[in-house]
Amino acid sequence: KMQVGGNGKEENILVLVRLRPLSEKEIAQDEVTDWECINSTTILYRNSLQERSGLPTSYSFDRVFRGDCSTREVYEEGAKDIALSVVGGINSTIFAYGQTSSGKTYTMNGITEYAVADIYDYIQRHEERAFVLKFSAMEIYNEVVKDLLSGDNNPLRLLDEPERGTIIEKLTEETLRDWSHLKELLSICEAQRQIGETSLNETSSRSHQILRLTIESSAREFLGKDNSATLSASVNFVDLAGSERASQSLSVGQRLKEGCHINRSLLTLGTVIRKLSKGRHGHVNYRDSKLTRILQPALGGNGRTTIICTLSPARCHVEQSRNTLLFASCAK
Ligand code: ADP
Ligand code: MG
Repeated sequence: KMQVGGNGKEENILVLVRLRPLSEKEIAQDEVTDWECINSTTILYRNSLQERSGLPTSYSFDRVFRGDCSTREVYEEGAKDIALSVVGGINSTIFAYGQTSSGKTYTMNGITEYAVADIYDYIQRHEERAFVLKFSAMEIYNEVVKDLLSGDNNPLRLLDEPERGTIIEKLTEETLRDWSHLKELLSICEAQRQIGETSLNETSSRSHQILRLTIESSAREFLGKDNSATLSASVNFVDLAGSERASQSLSVGQRLKEGCHINRSLLTLGTVIRKLSKGRHGHVNYRDSKLTRILQPALGGNGRTTIICTLSPARCHVEQSRNTLLFASCAK
């Protein structure tokens, strides 16, 4: 079953926008918001000065979530179907896109937990099939891929295999014993990412994190007899680098190529997503970045994608919020 988007047509890319509430600190600084979700699909920008600037004031997506919506609601309405399609052999990817501090990690952490709990629940209710779950986790920083589970800091190479496509050499893949084993691995990833953050000056806002859960299953009656009956697919949970890096490098225009903080993966992801949203024909430039190479099997083919664009409500962030909505609009 495919998702039906706001325009009524079947599509593989679902675009959601989540506004976070003003933080206590922002409130203490008398920060205000001009954003308002007027229904479940439209977000408005209301500011009398800006209205005269000619910039758009209304944006529509498959679903928009107000600041008081819980992550559970975002998950149920925007990510649950896609995450669960993995048990039926369909690859999927859930992205969080937005500026630093807009709520990407907050949103993805919750969604990952809910999704995995639902997948385990599904497995328990389908004893006629045997399931094997595998988990891996990686980080891409400045086009260097690192393993978040191995404990060492060595860059990993991407290799092209004729049968399997792009694979990540030496990436740790843990076979999961149970739900608590996964929780353990998730906290290892979190710790790894935090180590990076303090030693490399805010790495996490500049790096992409991909958590990948691969599920293989086969009907018990065919076990050991017929391997062709095995289903295998992955769901990727992607917490992207802060989008301000992409827009900063875009805003310097001609100097783009020489800039030192250009986030190639984020820019390439934008062009790949734009291309995919217009149908899957023609050349798609997956090979231009590590992120899109790694995600190609999930983004192309029958893969399903949700992009959750997170927004800070603060007036001082309006420019970044508009850039995020522009990215979200291009993905439609
Ligand atoms: P990012 O990963 O985009 O840099 P975070 O997820 O770290 O942003 O969020 C920044 C801060 O805002 C964190 O303290 C987080 O707990 C809080 N926050 C984010 N989204 C929400 C939300 N929807 N409701 C309440 N607090 C939130
Ligand atoms: Mg974060």
